[in-house]
Amino acid sequence: MTEITQADLALLAFAREAQDKAYAPYSGFRVGAAIFADGEIYQGCNVENAAYGSTMCAERGAAMSAVLAGKTYFDAIAVVGDSEDPTVPCGCCRQFLAEFNPEMRVVMGGRLDHVQVSSLDQLLPDAFVRGYLDQEAAAQ
Ligand SMILES: [Zn+2]
Repeated sequence: MTEITQADLALLAFAREAQDKAYAPYSGFRVGAAIFADGEIYQGCNVENAAYGSTMCAERGAAMSAVLAGKTYFDAIAVVGDSEDPTVPCGCCRQFLAEFNPEMRVVMGGRLDHVQVSSLDQLLPDAFVRGYLDQEAAAQ
């Protein structure tokens, strides 16, 4: 069990702020995310769509905001959703985030006070990352 720090709780507060902006008229399940990268915070919220498959998760929204600001290494991400237990990133977001640091800290919260902290490589062991593509290029 990873110890929860004041920085974790501060990042989670930014995720909760983003959660308030979520657009979730179909599921009603609001999610907020906040990425800490190079001393800055980047927020995202889930944005649903009438074509359900076009829905975007909060974590990927935050990641795109960070990349837009020129950040490609993330120290940590906080995620908070409407579940009682801490909301975990979906599989697609785990893979998406691994691109920007497979070992980043992941802080998860829900409706209640319980907070869970993990690392991305614990949530997604053996992620497919850039190194695999480099091996392929080197073999040719
Ligand atoms: Zn997701």
